[in-house]
Amino acid sequence: RPVVGVLALQGDVREHAAMLERAGARALPVRRPRELSEVDGIVLPGGESTTMSRLLDSFELLEPLRERIADGLPAFGSCAGMILLAKQALDGRPDQHQLDALDIVVRRNAFGRQVDSFEGDLEFTGVDGGPVHAVFIRAPWVEKTGDGVEVLARIPDSGEAGAAADRIVAVRQAAVLATAFHPELTGDERVHRMFVRLVEDAP
Ligand code: GLN
Repeated sequence: RPVVGVLALQGDVREHAAMLERAGARALPVRRPRELSEVDGIVLPGGESTTMSRLLDSFELLEPLRERIADGLPAFGSCAGMILLAKQALDGRPDQHQLDALDIVVRRNAFGRQVDSFEGDLEFTGVDGGPVHAVFIRAPWVEKTGDGVEVLARIPDSGEAGAAADRIVAVRQAAVLATAFHPELTGDERVHRMFVRLVEDAP
């Protein structure tokens, strides 16, 4: 079984670990550079990206993580994790660090205050067996994607979606996967399975 780390500084670490185990991986919490060197892939959980970015710095994980992902370590970020993986975050704090692992621009808390959290079903490219039920919590969306980025899911243009219609909420670039929502919260491990496959296929 591949060993997949879950960055365990803040956020919904246990939920990701449980889903990774169900998806066929061994989950390992990562808080130290030494632990990072033991994993075949890494998950960046949802939580609060400014807090996580500060903790990455104080736990001396920021540069090692950046380097390993740049060297090809597969990574999966949900919500705050997506924000950290992005090249650029709009409405971020000026001192927020970016891992620059995905050629995307994200907007934090993009769906607005009135719609703090919501749920919906999404078509998800590469996930078989019907739509994915997506839980959004103060979620970002992706405003811009670079050439190497594949769009995997968008908000459906349902009429009630308003400004959120067609917004990009899941992407992949090589072995880096990110969702604006929380697949770790719904008991459906198909997105985690997709990530475990990326880990298994990595050279
Ligand atoms: N709004 C949070 C942030 O900007 C992300 C929320 C989440 O991960 N559920 O980091």
